[in-house]
Amino acid sequence: MSHFFFHGVDTVELACTYGTPLYVVSEDEITARIREIKSLFDDRRERCRTHFASKAFLTKDMLGILKREGVGLDVVSGGELYLAREMEFPAERIAFHGNSKTEMEISEGLDYGVGKFVCDSLDEIKLIDEMARSRGARPNVLIRVNPGVKGNTHAHMLTSGGRTKFGLPPDLLRQTAAECAALENVAPVGLHFHVGSQLMDAGAHLEALDVLLGIIKELRDEMNFETRILDMGGGFGVAYTPADKPARIGDFITPMAARVEAFCAANGLTRPDLIIEPGRYITGPSGITLYTVGSVKEIPGVTTYAGVDGGYHDNPRPALYEAVYDAVVANKYGVSPAKNVTLAGKCCESGDVLIRGIMLPDIERGDIVAVLCTGAYCHSMANNYNKNPIPAIVMIKDGEARLSVRRQTYADIYACEMPLP
Ligand SMILES: *Cc1c(COP(=O)(O)O)cnc(C)c1O
Repeated sequence: MSHFFFHGVDTVELACTYGTPLYVVSEDEITARIREIKSLFDDRRERCRTHFASKAFLTKDMLGILKREGVGLDVVSGGELYLAREMEFPAERIAFHGNSKTEMEISEGLDYGVGKFVCDSLDEIKLIDEMARSRGARPNVLIRVNPGVKGNTHAHMLTSGGRTKFGLPPDLLRQTAAECAALENVAPVGLHFHVGSQLMDAGAHLEALDVLLGIIKELRDEMNFETRILDMGGGFGVAYTPADKPARIGDFITPMAARVEAFCAANGLTRPDLIIEPGRYITGPSGITLYTVGSVKEIPGVTTYAGVDGGYHDNPRPALYEAVYDAVVANKYGVSPAKNVTLAGKCCESGDVLIRGIMLPDIERGDIVAVLCTGAYCHSMANNYNKNPIPAIVMIKDGEARLSVRRQTYADIYACEMPLP
């Protein structure tokens, strides 16, 4: 019987030192993943840049890594932009996304001078135009296209196709591009698409790209609208369990870039600057969550429920879209599986089950469970349901652990309560 080590650190010791639930994130893994992508994209071709989708995982430490590694940043809210500003993240490398930015958020983006706004409607572009006029600014705008391609992923992770709220279908896009070109205080510099998340191969990306390339040519030929920037989104899948077999990142990016280059060469177009926006790929496998097992309840003929001290409030993904995870019992690492267990969260929701059916060693109160691949969309989606505090984050670098974000206190949860009159 041994302990489970994550990037050189004993996770049982971490649980002991920092308490549970605990997010453990490897800076080394994040850095390696960023460098892998850059070597395949930013450094391999001219005018190609990786933007990290900050909604996947955003902390000061993360922003520090991104700054150091020289990648760009996608934000979708004033809240995300706020931390980027605090960390003096270079404004020109920030893209402000979101389908319903508030006036305040647009104003914050203009104040900071973000590199581009990615817009989902003419309505919003007109608002930005108006707000930019009064400041004498002329921000870059990308228009988000819905290429109508359906990626093979959970419906809630689809952002292209007939019924998604995101992007403009091609017909509406033409109209919008034409009206946009007439506005004086925005610079419509390009197009954006993002097919969806956790995709296993490049099929949907390439299909969408073909739609976009057709539009780019048409806009140039018929409207003299030049697409100087093409933002191809993220969505590159990771393996949550051994059953997931995502294509390698290069098998997404390389054919995508090659397809753009070939099309542009064949059609006499200057190749637009290219952007990709990975989120999950960079941080997902770089993090795990540690829990302590509480009550264990065996229901004959059904399952054994092992309840843990976290759940929906630190990882709502299983409840949101039936996300599947793998786990190990950290203090019984290497012990043969003995039981089929349902790893239950502690929140008052039947859907709060972290893992439905996993073979684990004999599990008992006090055991430490590590749920794997929780570095993306867990801390960023964490919430205070049942007034549970959001767990701390520990970062690992060179085999050393360091507290990055402290655990919320009960006082933090109630900090916005006003005194009674
Ligand atoms: C969420 C999102 C991403 C990142 O998606 P991943 O699946 O985490 O790579 C990229 N671009 C846009 C516009 C997004 O909404």
